[in-house]
Amino acid sequence: MVRVRFAPSPTGYLHVGGARTALFNWLFARKHKGKFILRIEDTDTERSTRESENMIMNDLNWLGLFWDEGPDIGGDYGPYRQSERLHLYEQYAYELVKEGHAYFAVYDKDDPKKVLYTTTQEPTDGNPYTVVFKVPENETVKFDDMLKGEIEFSTEHMDDFIILKSNGYPVYNFAVVIDDHLMSITHVLRGEDHISNTPKQILLYKAFGWEPPKFMHIPLILGADKTPLSKRHGATAVEHFRKEGYLSKALVNYLAILGWSVDEEIFDFTQKIESFTPDKISNKNVVFDYQKLEWVNGKHMRMLTTEELYNQFEEWRRYVGAEKEIPKEVLEICREKVNTLKQLYEFALPFVDDTYEYSQEYVEKFARKPETINIIELAVQKFSQLDNYDISSIEKTLREIATTLGLGTNKVFQTIRGALLGRLVTPGLFESIAVLGKEKTLSRLQRTLE
Ligand code: GLU
Repeated sequence: MVRVRFAPSPTGYLHVGGARTALFNWLFARKHKGKFILRIEDTDTERSTRESENMIMNDLNWLGLFWDEGPDIGGDYGPYRQSERLHLYEQYAYELVKEGHAYFAVYDKDDPKKVLYTTTQEPTDGNPYTVVFKVPENETVKFDDMLKGEIEFSTEHMDDFIILKSNGYPVYNFAVVIDDHLMSITHVLRGEDHISNTPKQILLYKAFGWEPPKFMHIPLILGADKTPLSKRHGATAVEHFRKEGYLSKALVNYLAILGWSVDEEIFDFTQKIESFTPDKISNKNVVFDYQKLEWVNGKHMRMLTTEELYNQFEEWRRYVGAEKEIPKEVLEICREKVNTLKQLYEFALPFVDDTYEYSQEYVEKFARKPETINIIELAVQKFSQLDNYDISSIEKTLREIATTLGLGTNKVFQTIRGALLGRLVTPGLFESIAVLGKEKTLSRLQRTLE
């Protein structure tokens, strides 16, 4: 059975690159009816925090990348936090010593960098010691990367390396091998930045006599200047995009098409499980395009039903603590013009906030001009007489006002638009007026005459 894992180090937020790795693992597991495991690699005691672990789990859940085994839900191969598996690393490190593949390095307790001696007997002289892996000399090791093909390396220039530190913690390369083996991981899909670690890991598998998993190293996400995507290029945290009002489905969609050629661009990733074949993942590094992501998000926003849009919007509003409620019908008419839920909120605000301000453009072009006053006075009069406050009656009324006053329709529409919503770019005017309702329309028109 296919078993894959996502193994973040909880030293910060979930990076979009990590999310993409998690996604590919998730797709691979689902496609092969296997298991997707979440393992927390918290052996860096200084930088790992529970807060970061929770953040990463929240973000993965938000993205819909649910795991089958993990620290929160358990499973048959636990514990799933490396800090709770220290006894295992020790046991296996000692086994390597016993088998002649590792030795102890003993340090001066007053100068912990200075090696006093090495031995295969557990030291008892009170000095700190590490367990060091003995790299076999002049050996060629090969592995067949699922994406990059055969990779070969020689141990000629490789030094022996520590596997267990003096504080009893394993190094990454050691813990990862023990865990991937004990958790029966069949495929390791991870970022290309780990490719240089793979030789060490393979040597460890060989020393234990274990079959290594299959490896697939996924190209990195780069910024516009072709260096690995980092804060210097802009936001990289999944959480940031959530706050900015991106839909999780859209973010995952974008991460999926970033280097994976699928037959279409806009999709729900849960419908694409069957199409996921690793050979369609590009072997080249890919550039993160913020504008494209926004475009993908806009597409997803327009695909939602009104009800779904409302639910997503409410979820976002609670998440960021945005104060004003926006009725469904307002969201519905506003969504055409925006690409994110945050933009939607800002765009929709004048509909619900009676203290809306007039944009500078409106003030300069229209405020207190005699023509404006004429238009608005006539609109107040006509709208108050209007019984059917529907879109076509509203349109008819506005056109009549233009004819009566001998003005262009555009002039009339813009005057009313700005008076009612404070800005000159709004959703369709007739729909907007219908959604505002008669009472609000009249009071807002009158407000501009004061
Ligand atoms: N903890 C490692 C990281 O966050 C995992 C690497 C791996 O998947 O082996 O990069």
